[in-house]
Formats: sequence, C-alpha cells, structure tokens
Amino acid sequence: MSKRDYYEVLGLTKGADASEIKKAYRKLAVKYHPDKNPDDPTAEEKFKEATEAYEVLRDDEKRKLYDQYGHAGLGGAGGFGGGFGGQGMEFDLSDALRAFMRDFGGGGFGDIFGESRGRGRNGRGRDLQIKVELSLEEIASGVEKTIKLQKQVACTTCQGSGAAAGGGVKACDQCGGAGQVRRVQRTLLGQFVNVVMCPHCQGEGQVISAPCRDCNGTGTVRGTETVKVKIPAGVTGGNYLTLKGQGDAGQRGAPAGDVYVVIEEREDPIFERHGDDLLLNLPVSAVDLALGTKMQVPTVDGRVSLKIPAGTQSHKIFRMRGKGLPHLHGRGRGDQLVRIIAWTPQSLSAEDRRRFEECRSSAQRGIPEPGRKIYS
Ligand SMILES: [Zn+2]
Ligand SMILES: [Zn+2]
Repeated sequence: MSKRDYYEVLGLTKGADASEIKKAYRKLAVKYHPDKNPDDPTAEEKFKEATEAYEVLRDDEKRKLYDQYGHAGLGGAGGFGGGFGGQGMEFDLSDALRAFMRDFGGGGFGDIFGESRGRGRNGRGRDLQIKVELSLEEIASGVEKTIKLQKQVACTTCQGSGAAAGGGVKACDQCGGAGQVRRVQRTLLGQFVNVVMCPHCQGEGQVISAPCRDCNGTGTVRGTETVKVKIPAGVTGGNYLTLKGQGDAGQRGAPAGDVYVVIEEREDPIFERHGDDLLLNLPVSAVDLALGTKMQVPTVDGRVSLKIPAGTQSHKIFRMRGKGLPHLHGRGRGDQLVRIIAWTPQSLSAEDRRRFEECRSSAQRGIPEPGRKIYS
C-alpha cells in the first residue's frame, strides 16, 4: 500500500505554518482517537496515519526532507517520535498515542498508561513504563541493561485461568455467553435497543464458578521478572524502546501489556552534548597559545593528540571529525568540538613577573578593537 501525501492526510497545502499543522492534526486525532473509537480498525489506521504525517510536518528537518524527496527522503533516516524499536521506522499505535499525548495530553508521559488504555480492554494487562539512566560512555558504545520489573504475572496456582482447582468456568448467565447484552431505552421518540458489553462478565462471556484463592479469580498476582534490554549506541534522553507483551499479565489469559523503556541521560562532567557532537572546553595557558603546542585531549574513546598552532586565540573551536557519538540510525559519528579557553597564570614568581613585564608591550601588538567579531 502506498502512503498518502502527508499534506493531503492533514488536509493542508504545502505552505501551511506550524499552527495550522497542529490545528489540523488535533482535529483529526481527536476524531479518530482509539479511546473514542474502541475496536474500530479503520479509525485506528486514520489516527496512526494522521499522527505520522504530523510527526514529519511538525519537525523542520524532517519536513524539509519530505518536501524535497517525498516519503523516500525519510526512509531509514529518523525514526519517529523518539522511538527506535525494531526497524526504526515502525510506527505503531503506541508511538501515535505517545505523540498525541506529548503535544495534547497535558500530563505527558504517565497519562497514556493510566485508565484510558490497557486495563479496561477485555482484561489486557497494563503497559508499564521504566526509566533507564545512561552515562555518556554507555550511550557512546551501546549497552545491555538488566532490569527487574515489578509487575502482575500469571498466577501459578491456577495457571492464569483464575479458576480454583476443579472449579472451572461456566457461561455467564446474564448474557448467556455472548458477552453482550441488549439494553432497552425508552425515550419520547420511542424505544431504542443498544447492544452493550455485559457488565457481569466484562464481555468475556464466561464467569468463574469457584475463583482461585491466590489471585481472587483474576489469574494474575504481584511478582517480579528480570528482562534484558539491548540499547543501541547514540540514543538520546526521551527515546524509548517498546518491549511487546512484557508488561502486566492480562487477566485470565488476556494479552499482556507492553513495557516502555525510556532513556534518560546522566549529565556528563566533561562533555556537553549537542546532538551527536560533543563539546569540550579545553583550558590552555596563554603562553602555550602564543607559542603553539600539542595536547592530549579526552574523547569518549580515550585521549587523542590535538595540535594547537602558535597564535591561537581563546574561544577558537577545533573540530575533531568522527570523535563524537555514533548516529542512532545509520553509520558514522558526530564530531568532537574543542573550545580553547585561554588560561592566565594566577600566581607569578618574581622572575616570571619580570619576564611578563618585558613582553607586555609586544604582547599587545595586533589586539583588535573591542567588538563582537574577535574570535575566529
Ligand atoms: Zn490463581
Ligand atoms: Zn456476561
């Protein structure tokens, strides 16, 4: 199936500005949101389609690529919404819900894991969110983390069925096993018949005649589970991985929820991150700057020699190509930027003082006028 044009999806023209894009998306997303259209695959598709279009058009960089090359311009490049599960470009419902919640949900992350999704739907297990804090070294190399999850697991006594031994299940006598009941509504305009989920069995069509005592008939109990998560190099805070089916166990054999592993970055004491580039402030003595020198500077891969030519000014930035962080999608790495900071001796011996005095006037030669454009 070929993808529709993103502007067409949102009902916009190419020149649409940010607020028009947001408005158009919001309208569609609210209309097709799965919570408003439960179990309607067409609405779900429309919701995902609109969100995907929005995610591209709201992002200046992705939008530029899309305007220039169409859908092909985005192939494998960015991933969506901060997620990077599976193929990188996989855009599933959880990505879409997350994008929507991020911009329109108010509360942000936590909300989509609350009552609105999961738990209510035929006993499906809740989605869980865990945070993993990574150091810059771990981000540079990629890392496998072992995580202990506190969650609902299948009850071992009843193997998740919720029924006591020998108790079994029986058809729900309220709905006769259909899971739905007809509800008659009398109004001034006449009588209406609605078909609604059976409240007695929650739509399951069967009830447990003798519930398991260990789980009170739910089929799940509190437990812990250890999972291993492989985190690729180059991730950024806010990225997340989806572990399908690793969330809370569903009630009485219903599907389990998912786990969202959200990346957080620990602040690095040495490097300042700018995308995949790393900035390092490097203090160099004023004398070394005047005479030129060679220095060993730290990088995420260890120390690397950097040549500083004679006459280098403070705040000059040297670019060490490929010494930054690996790109998350695709090959290559960012750069390391080294910003020189001139360092002046703070205590001078009498002898030093005499020598500095000797070159005081010659050291002032060529000093530019005060102004903005002093640093190269
Ligand atoms: Zn049980
Ligand atoms: Zn029923």
